Amino acid sequence: MASYYNDKTEIFLNGSFVKAANASIDLYSQSLHYGYSVFEGIRAYKTINGITKIFKAEAHFDRLKQSALAMNMPYSWTRDELIAATYEVLKRNNFQDAYIRPVVYAPANMSFAKNEQSYIVIEAWEMQPFLGDKLLKVMTSSFERPNPRGFKIHAKAGGHYVNSILASQEAKALGYDEALLKDMNGFIAEGPGANVFIEKDDVLYTPTLGNILPGITRATVIELCNEMGIAVIEKQISSEELSTADAAFFCGTAAEIIGWQSIDDYTFPKEWNNSSSRKIQLAYSDRIVEKNSNEKKRTHREASIA
Ligand code: PMP
Repeated sequence: MASYYNDKTEIFLNGSFVKAANASIDLYSQSLHYGYSVFEGIRAYKTINGITKIFKAEAHFDRLKQSALAMNMPYSWTRDELIAATYEVLKRNNFQDAYIRPVVYAPANMSFAKNEQSYIVIEAWEMQPFLGDKLLKVMTSSFERPNPRGFKIHAKAGGHYVNSILASQEAKALGYDEALLKDMNGFIAEGPGANVFIEKDDVLYTPTLGNILPGITRATVIELCNEMGIAVIEKQISSEELSTADAAFFCGTAAEIIGWQSIDDYTFPKEWNNSSSRKIQLAYSDRIVEKNSNEKKRTHREASIA
């Protein structure tokens, strides 16, 4: 198992900076028993001028709040105080390129009743940028994304990730790199921890909001397309459209932009390096480090982290 902290690692826990190794939560927490928590996945990058910046910090902490409110969890923190606390966590641990994981969780409560209080932890661990050029073999999952009539699927809630874990484990057990889940209507939705784009005739398409997590990277990709004059369309996408596409990729805070080699037994015909998707991948790698040129270290990392 990966090691996320050592004896020296500090985290932010309910207003204080404490050692991860000494921190604890109540085992009677409603979050542990019922998956009733909300969280974020955020990246910090060492930018080209040497300063570490949290990428899209405001958008992530706004989504954390929206997720908590959607779940009826009390939320008493300001965006600025949490951003400041996150920078302090990075500084105390001497992290430059890092992954940041804030979690809002509930007190001890075995009932389903609303709580009067929530708790928060902000953890971080080192993670290098990757923007891998190893392409993924993806399978259409036998699991669907949760029905938005049963779950507030736009919220990043802990319990939703049971679905992600099942789908990702299924794909890996069958020899694929990652899963693609459809929505309850049979349209393509998203990966276990990433949104999806497909490319056809130099136009990018991505599923409309409603049955997916509104990804911050997805929004950044749309922004980059608009800036670069690449046409991008949000629409419901069928499996057939996917299996006749020229190229496809996952995008997410942890996955960044990662191209696909294949979906099920269909191999994407367009050379990744000649695709519009690749242009977006390069532009994204510049954006996260606040740079315009594009020499970049590339190694492979799995897409399966939320
Ligand atoms: N969908 C799901 C289910 C996710 O877990 C994530 C990762 N947070 C995404 C999409 C991508 O979202 P973002 O770009 O905000 O990381």
